[in-house]
Amino acid sequence: MALAVAAERVAAEFEYSKEDVNRGVQAFIQQMDEGLGKKGATMSQIPTYVTAVPNGTEKGLYMAVDLGGTNFRVCSIQLHGNSTFSLTQSKVAIPKDLMVAKTSHELFSFLAKQIELFLKVHHEEHYQSHVERRASYVGFGTMRDENIFSLGFTFSFPVQQYGINKGTLIRWTKGFDIADTIGKDVCALLQKEIDALGLPVRVAALVNDTVGTLMARSYTSPGKQGTLLGGIFGTGTNGAYVEKLDKITKLKNQSADAGEIDDSTGEMIVNTEWGSFDNHMSVLPDTSYDRGLDAGSVNPGIQMFEKRVSGMFLGEILRRALIDLMNDPSVPLFSDDDSSRNDISSTTTVASDSPLYKQWGLDTSFLSITSGDSSYGLKATRQALNSDYGVSAASAEDAEAARLIAGAIGKRAARLSAVAIAAVVITTKSLESSAPDGVVDIGVDGSLVEFYPNFEEYIREALRDVPQIGPHGEKRIRIGIAKDGSGVGAALIALVADKKMKGTHE
Ligand code: BGC
Ligand code: MG
Repeated sequence: MALAVAAERVAAEFEYSKEDVNRGVQAFIQQMDEGLGKKGATMSQIPTYVTAVPNGTEKGLYMAVDLGGTNFRVCSIQLHGNSTFSLTQSKVAIPKDLMVAKTSHELFSFLAKQIELFLKVHHEEHYQSHVERRASYVGFGTMRDENIFSLGFTFSFPVQQYGINKGTLIRWTKGFDIADTIGKDVCALLQKEIDALGLPVRVAALVNDTVGTLMARSYTSPGKQGTLLGGIFGTGTNGAYVEKLDKITKLKNQSADAGEIDDSTGEMIVNTEWGSFDNHMSVLPDTSYDRGLDAGSVNPGIQMFEKRVSGMFLGEILRRALIDLMNDPSVPLFSDDDSSRNDISSTTTVASDSPLYKQWGLDTSFLSITSGDSSYGLKATRQALNSDYGVSAASAEDAEAARLIAGAIGKRAARLSAVAIAAVVITTKSLESSAPDGVVDIGVDGSLVEFYPNFEEYIREALRDVPQIGPHGEKRIRIGIAKDGSGVGAALIALVADKKMKGTHE
């Protein structure tokens, strides 16, 4: 079979039609509702106890750390109180072996060490004043000290929250797998390691990255309407949105463990954990490549939406599709048996140790490179195939085949993302409740929205395919990047937590 025909056949498997989008939206809304009503639904719909979004006037110096799927960031944030902030940060890649460590201690002590390092480099005064007093250390719970940093802990995994700085891990996602941590309070785990190093830091708030993104977006671009949704389309995917308190019916049974809820706004931010939308596969698209990926993952059968949408997985889907073609003797991908090749002077070979042969070997950044490749003969794509994937002398036809399939996988991911966004906009009646031409504001972050060419355009195309939104509604949906927003958001929640604590002490 000619290569182009074979590639088109595979790309077609990833088509996600207008009808698919609409079926997806209906199911998404249903599963959101179910999650609001009971614990243990496929979409967790976790109440965050954050009942107000910021308005830009918040002020102060805070610390924040962010344990994401790929990096650990430590930062300090000065909120200026006029919708602006200054941020100092450091970032390290999380060592792979810590993601699958035997004990929580291995991971959390690493995190505390990064905090120590950050303080030494960027906040010498706090660090020193503390070291001098270390002898008389009595624990921060009882100490009131201006030199103690309040820290917002952005923890980008599903947590059952019991209060503003208390929450137990429900499950790991994104390749993390440390059985010991499940069911434990992740704030307490971090505080323990911070205390072991004697650092002047109090873990004041526990924040999902989507909640942080929503808060950050609200702080920096306050509108009359406020921000509706914070979404992450990065290594993983998830969204948090502003919901009416009385729709979160499961809160009535839970409020005993949650303590008092400040219900003055009548609203609460809900962390959907939409990565697990439709785990039972009633409407999600499912190719043989998706099934292979899931079967080979550390968490088969869960995070099924995330496995079709987010950056950790798209490269692996593409890798599996390419390997299938390479294994098909009738398809001349990365081989010299193609009589239609323009360039028959060089021999195309794939190194036997090519990452293409290894699970997770193909990075999602390759999708961004090839989808954005407008060079003559797809030179950038061939270059990446050669230098990163051991494919020497790939032809323009090879590159075109890879690009076609990569584009189809990326587009499906964007259209699925639109399903989530549309469902939240529709179920909250946001278009109806704002002025006829008013804006519905959404803050997003993550490597896909940042780097994948046309990701937002594909999302918008799919939004127009949903009758309840349509071209007019789509125009009213404002999507803004809140870059590294989770740090600022965590600081904002630490501020709220501090005020609450001081309020009860004074
Ligand atoms: C986690 C979410 C997180 C998202 C984006 C998912 O795997 O379950 O808690 O918000 O990734 O980082
Ligand atoms: Mg992140």
